[in-house]
Amino acid sequence: MERIFGRPIVTQEEMRARIKELGKQITADYAGKDFVLVGVLKGAYAFYADLARAIRIPMRVDFLVVTSYGSRAKTSGKVKIVTELTEDIKGKEVLLVEDIVDSGLTAQYLIKTLAKKKPQSIKVCTLLSKPERRTVDVALEYVGFKIPNRYVVGYGLDYQQKYRNLPYLAVLDMEGEQE
Ligand code: 5GP
Ligand code: MG
Ligand code: MG
Repeated sequence: MERIFGRPIVTQEEMRARIKELGKQITADYAGKDFVLVGVLKGAYAFYADLARAIRIPMRVDFLVVTSYGSRAKTSGKVKIVTELTEDIKGKEVLLVEDIVDSGLTAQYLIKTLAKKKPQSIKVCTLLSKPERRTVDVALEYVGFKIPNRYVVGYGLDYQQKYRNLPYLAVLDMEGEQE
């Protein structure tokens, strides 16, 4: 098997335990509500699948596919929804599932855009957050792990579309790419 480089920063066991806790919290918070779990693809795919199965209430699943302009490590904040929701979220309680919140621009843009569809509520659950990098103030209801300002891959997150299938989260050493 090809060896994948990168130092583990969150192990599979840590991931499993934290997602179980998040699932419990979300289950308690959304019980009895008309609940839609919206995954932001591609990055959130692995987290979404595990989180959804840790939530023990009836819910709808839906997805958005977004791309950010440019393929560099740094986001411009200009995101484009390339595939829209299939469910009507009007009047529903929406929880957006994100892989990582960095500057916060993507999450802010998605909240603003989805709010136009008049959901009852719209909140964010992100697996990872890099608080040091935030440039806009965005409310994160659920955060899996706060991580330092390093570029991470695995568990859904990519570097140039690769490494998403790593079963754990790893720091990719690529000095000079973060500017
Ligand atoms: P934001 O709009 O919050 O600045 O950036 C969010 C997006 O930037 C994420 O969905 C992800 O695509 C990308 N991103 C930010 N930090 C990282 C990182 O450490 N690793 C990877 N793979 N993507 C990141
Ligand atoms: Mg994302
Ligand atoms: Mg990416």
